[in-house]
Amino acid sequence: MDETTGTIGLVEQELTPESPHSREPSDIPLIPRDLKVKLKEQRLIIEWNDGRRSDILFSDLRRVCPCAACRSERGEQAKNPLRILKYDPGQLRVTGARLVGNYAIQFSWSDGHDTGIFDFRFLRSLQDPESGS
Ligand SMILES: [Zn+2]
Repeated sequence: MDETTGTIGLVEQELTPESPHSREPSDIPLIPRDLKVKLKEQRLIIEWNDGRRSDILFSDLRRVCPCAACRSERGEQAKNPLRILKYDPGQLRVTGARLVGNYAIQFSWSDGHDTGIFDFRFLRSLQDPESGS
């Protein structure tokens, strides 16, 4: 019986503290390289710094508006399934947009609503299948 058989391989094993093929994207801040607010088409097109692209309809954005008023409205709907729509979401339009710091966009809507601040991570997560829902 050879006592050394099978031990040599272990010695040559490489120890790498971090895998270069790590799929964690969390250490790279996602920044839009290009932001297009298309008022005519009512959509937002974002070219991200990792080469991906988001194409988001404003009508979808309003439905997930993160502001306190919209959130509580959606909370009420969850408690009471009867929906009294004050407006037709299909007719709401974005009339303007501005950057908030360098992390978010704030939209103005045709009904005067402008308190929703959509940060870039949130916008990215809307169409990123890896981040789930
Ligand atoms: Zn809102």
